[in-house]
Amino acid sequence: MINLELPKKLRASANQAHQVAQEIFRPISRKYDLAEHEYPVELDTMAAMVEGLADSGTQKIGGAAGGRSDDSDSDRHATELLGNTNGGNMSALLNALETSWGDVGLMLSIPYQGLGNAAIAAVATDEQLKRFGKVWASMAITEPSFGSDSAAVSTTAVLDGDEWVLNGEKIFVTAGQRSTHIVVWATVDKSLGRAAIKSFVVPRDAPGLSVARLEHKLGIKASDTAVLLLQDCRIPKDNILGSPEVNVEKGFAGVMQTFDNTRPLVAAMAIGVARAALEELRSILTGAGVEISYDTPANNQHAAAAEFLRMEADYEAAYLLALRAAWMADNKKPNSLEASMSKAKAGRTGTDVTLKAVELAGAIGYSQRTLLEKWGRDSKILDIFEGTQQIQQLIVARRILGKTSAELK
Ligand SMILES: Cc1cc2nc3c(=O)[nH]c(=O)nc-3n(C[C@H](O)[C@H](O)[C@H](O)COP(=O)(O)OP(=O)(O)OC[C@H]3O[C@@H](n4cnc5c(N)ncnc54)[C@H](O)[C@@H]3O)c2cc1C
Repeated sequence: MINLELPKKLRASANQAHQVAQEIFRPISRKYDLAEHEYPVELDTMAAMVEGLADSGTQKIGGAAGGRSDDSDSDRHATELLGNTNGGNMSALLNALETSWGDVGLMLSIPYQGLGNAAIAAVATDEQLKRFGKVWASMAITEPSFGSDSAAVSTTAVLDGDEWVLNGEKIFVTAGQRSTHIVVWATVDKSLGRAAIKSFVVPRDAPGLSVARLEHKLGIKASDTAVLLLQDCRIPKDNILGSPEVNVEKGFAGVMQTFDNTRPLVAAMAIGVARAALEELRSILTGAGVEISYDTPANNQHAAAAEFLRMEADYEAAYLLALRAAWMADNKKPNSLEASMSKAKAGRTGTDVTLKAVELAGAIGYSQRTLLEKWGRDSKILDIFEGTQQIQQLIVARRILGKTSAELK
């Protein structure tokens, strides 16, 4: 029998993240939505807490740093969630969900919890994990010439003695101005195609690295999104993640592996925002005298209640798909299909639920009196970055039909 209750240890860490979301994020959510690019100083208190928690071995709060499952740190209750190991990915997922319930822009700004941290956790050697375990890493893949087609990386990395020399431009880098390190995708030999794309950890103070500008955006305004320039940027030779060898047979697998960890996390962010909108909507509908019944068929209820039930079912489905993808990552089961499924479902559900909530709440939903309109704006990015809706569906189709990327584009 499947028991879908969360293990005690994960519940405690998720509760802690929820408290942070409620007590720190929600009260400042509108403030930083209206003050784009202003650094949320309240996060410094959080950073100190996160540091303390990391030192004491407790799970981190925000979640994006998740990644590698560590058996010594995992819960092993066969009767609990799906059995087996619940490690770093599951914990990171729940924490990302809870903090995003508070404010996803602020969640993306939590120091030391960048998407690059998840990439490091996924592919770093033990020695690198020691060196980069406590950095704040953003993730720089996208370039002016491509977004979805990550095999088109044109930033170059050339070995010069004991250093890699990087040249290129990276755009739309989340936390690109504030992070202490940037995980940069670059090619070591363009003629060898996607197999030559590697990821490199670039420290903020590396010579040749600069921030060209910050983007103005529709939502997640608390999060800094930067354009980065790498001009003869020099980093130590051993800052390459994974093997420097170009294995044409293995192809893209090395760097793509990071998506198996990060996509369920982004799904969790969308699920967190969707839950926030559902809770707010329930309270508005209840206040307006609309009863949401779980005992009456939806077609016999108020139209708004029927819509609510449909959205809640989608929310539950998205949640369970994300849990499965993270659990598989923790248990070292290949999860590319499930990671993309969870991201596609959650990205869709997040935008649908938040915008429908605006609609059903009417003028109040569209006004700034509640956070509904903000969540409608914030959630769209979660259906775009780390692979758009269409790209996730493409990956799912390829996996199910057994087609290669050349066969199904
Ligand atoms: C706020 C924000 C933060 C971001 N943060 C980061 C970050 O931290 N690091 C990073 O590297 N990047 C980041 N990005 C970039 C993001 O990952 C890309 O925007 C995304 O991958 C889509 O790429 P694109 O914008 O070039 O769109 P395109 O790839 O040009 O796609 C345009 C449209 O065409 C569709 N499409 C593309 N190819 C196909 C296909 N084969 N079949 C069907 N449809 C297709 C897409 O789904 C999309 O709807 C961020 C972007 C934003 C807006």
